Amino acid sequence: MDMKFYAIAVLLLSSVMTGALSVYSVLNFRTSGARSYACLMACVSIYSFGYAFELYHTTLRWILVASKIQYFGISFIPILWFMVAACYAGYWKRIPRILLPLLFVIPVFTLLFRLSNEYHQLVYKAVALNESGPFPVLSITRGMWYYINTVYAYSCLIAGNICFVAMAIKTIGPYRKQAVTLVAVSLLPWVADIIYQRGLSPWGMDLAPFAFAIVGPVLAWGIFYLRIFDFVPIARDTIFDFMDDPVIVFDTVDRLVDYNQAAGSIFEALDKRAIGIGAEIVFDGHPGLMKGLTGDISGSQDIRIRNRGTAHVFELSTMPVVSKMRREVGRIVVLHDVTEQRELMARLQDMATRDGLTCMFNHRYLMELSEKELERAKRHGRPLTFMLADIDFFKQVNDTYGHLAGDEVLRKVAEVFQRNIRSTDILGRYGGEEFGLILPETLPEDGKALADRIRDDLESVSIQSGGQNISVTASFGVSGCRIDSDNPDTLVSLFKRVDRMLYKAKKQGRNMVVLAEGNDD
Ligand code: GH3
Ligand code: MG
Ligand code: MG
Repeated sequence: MDMKFYAIAVLLLSSVMTGALSVYSVLNFRTSGARSYACLMACVSIYSFGYAFELYHTTLRWILVASKIQYFGISFIPILWFMVAACYAGYWKRIPRILLPLLFVIPVFTLLFRLSNEYHQLVYKAVALNESGPFPVLSITRGMWYYINTVYAYSCLIAGNICFVAMAIKTIGPYRKQAVTLVAVSLLPWVADIIYQRGLSPWGMDLAPFAFAIVGPVLAWGIFYLRIFDFVPIARDTIFDFMDDPVIVFDTVDRLVDYNQAAGSIFEALDKRAIGIGAEIVFDGHPGLMKGLTGDISGSQDIRIRNRGTAHVFELSTMPVVSKMRREVGRIVVLHDVTEQRELMARLQDMATRDGLTCMFNHRYLMELSEKELERAKRHGRPLTFMLADIDFFKQVNDTYGHLAGDEVLRKVAEVFQRNIRSTDILGRYGGEEFGLILPETLPEDGKALADRIRDDLESVSIQSGGQNISVTASFGVSGCRIDSDNPDTLVSLFKRVDRMLYKAKKQGRNMVVLAEGNDD
């Protein structure tokens, strides 16, 4: 039981493991990166097995058979290594398909020349058994093709490593650590080869198969767990991370696959360790987002989220991620910040519906709402009362104190109205110094009582303007709506009647409320 035994055991184990990884990859993934990986692992498996076979035997004849077995793997490992790396870095798509067979010319000839080496000695000029160590190893004199293949193999390995380094440089965010790990691991075969070529390896053993025994599973971690070939080329663009819109990618069972910096700054759950967590954790406290992801709501949706202390409104949209095989492999959630648009819309709506001086509804909107309330009252047979108020001798206020003071008085009168009404009452500026009030679910007598309260309140208020105290009064016309008689009210008939009541109040001495009676038509 010596070193050799352990070496054979490790090699056989590695052969089985890399073989299994190859099969697993073929069965589960269809991308070109995963396919190259499957072939690479198959070759590493053959190489490890061949080398175990070589170590086991002690005669030159069988050791040469083992060497030939290894060449079925060795010949193709460099080009497959490059293919895996190029796919990972997203460069593979850019290589013209027509060049593909050319890349395999040298590996195929290497294998053929090695198998028929006895006839031409192109690969090995001479072979011998070196029995100076604890167990015999093959000692070779390199032939011409050996050098050609070495140059080609090193070129492929270097190109592959450049791909890994390029990917580590351009990767940002949660994939960074993974990319750097892959760079570190991709250097292992080099270290093994340098030690071997310099004759520094223990008992002159080839260390490359051992190096690949480590590289294989690490690459598998990248492919199967982090799914680098599935998602990196699709989602991981520089643009992705520098987008202002938060973007989050989930797989088909709603586990987190990727997200950009904008999303990371909004959702607390999103950090480097979050890959793989469920959407319900990411969207904790945002049921609207969860519904949007699972498709329970269709169309675009407004979602309110606090970001760095300020409330933001986002429009949510989701779209499927579809693989080349037209299979849905995940969903992308995009949140578009519409806070400014929504604020602008609200402002525009305000400007269109409110009076600039008093901030109450303007005449047009008051009429629109009156129409709606009248229809509703008729439909449900509910009471509804209308009121018009007009400030008494307002012209004199303007004439005495000036137009600006008049404006101030209008604002203060509006406040008096505002503080006396319910939230369901609708108050608007009917005209210059006239106010309209619609009182849903209110009987005419109650409307009159309210008008009296407002009149009283106004009478007792003293308005300050430019160092002067100004007092005003107002006259009121009030009427209930006729909704169930033979001659139900229209908006026109109703306002006409209320206006007449207001005129009556003016005529009878002002500063009073007049309620329409049954025969007031
Ligand atoms: P009455 O008691 O009969 O209602 O008398 P009055 O003076 O209030 O009636 P009149 O309708 O003759 O005058 C209304 C005045 O309201 C005339 C107009 O200059 C003034 N007014 C209308 N809109 C505004 C406004 O926005 N600001 C100011 N300062 N005055 C306004
Ligand atoms: Mg007036
Ligand atoms: Mg008037």
